[in-house]
Amino acid sequence: MTPDTALAIGLDLGGTKLATVLIGPDGRIRHRHHREHHARDYPAVLDAITGAVRECDTLGYAPVVGLAVAGPLDRDRERVLAALNLGFADRPLRADLRERLGRPVVLENDANAAALAEHRVGAGAGARCLVLLTLGTGIGGGIVVDGQVLRGAAGAAAELGHLPVGTDGAGCGCGATGCLELYASGTALGRLAGAGRTSRDVVAAADRGDPTARRLLAEAGERLGAAVLMLAPAIDPDVVMLGGGLAHAAAGHLLPALRDRLTVGWPFRARRAPARVCLAGCGVDAGAIGAALCAMDEAAETMPAGVGAGF
Ligand SMILES: [Zn+2]
Repeated sequence: MTPDTALAIGLDLGGTKLATVLIGPDGRIRHRHHREHHARDYPAVLDAITGAVRECDTLGYAPVVGLAVAGPLDRDRERVLAALNLGFADRPLRADLRERLGRPVVLENDANAAALAEHRVGAGAGARCLVLLTLGTGIGGGIVVDGQVLRGAAGAAAELGHLPVGTDGAGCGCGATGCLELYASGTALGRLAGAGRTSRDVVAAADRGDPTARRLLAEAGERLGAAVLMLAPAIDPDVVMLGGGLAHAAAGHLLPALRDRLTVGWPFRARRAPARVCLAGCGVDAGAIGAALCAMDEAAETMPAGVGAGF
């Protein structure tokens, strides 16, 4: 099939789900599918991704593929350093997929990919400096400045769940203390509620008016605000976005507390209003869309003039 240089495939590989999109140059989805996968070792992961791409190929051959993954990547985004729930670590996923698929492949952290998607085609369109916090089991983050994902020296920028907002000495798996995700993630809310409750239980109770559950969510919103205030003097965001299942379920409780915290603590607020706070708009496809956009961007940068005109 003749390659359509205007298309890109994006995939978002989670622990049990694989989301796939085929997008056009405007970022709009031409085709999408979400499926469960049971890959628990490296060859099975390669097979799952290859199968999803081959299915897209029947609809229109995209010359580039982007893959969003939850685990940390090396600085050059060639290797996935740890994907323990998928049963592998430190594998050259980019090169192996490139060989299997016969076309360029780009890897990206899933939260970074989601932030890029929100900036280009989602609720953050037009932002000069976008901060995305994704609330789930843990807290992920992505920052897009002037249209570019902020990656940092080793590719580990925007790990916003590890901003040190707590002073109670609580220890985090990252080795530091007081990290944001110890107070405002789904796991944290369940732990703080106690008695075997989950974050879903907390949100349901808050919706019914339970004062303890409402207080827990308001405190989580304040912690999120404190984290954004740590970033504000350094990067000057104009849009702060919450994504992930917990954020959407508990938006009515989290967003007011977050906004209040920013209103009180925003630096130079006599001159400049606090960042706009909103919910993510790309939904469950955000990571896959962002991965496809990353692949398009890289192709546009590396292809000789004229070849990538479709981008
Ligand atoms: Zn941490």
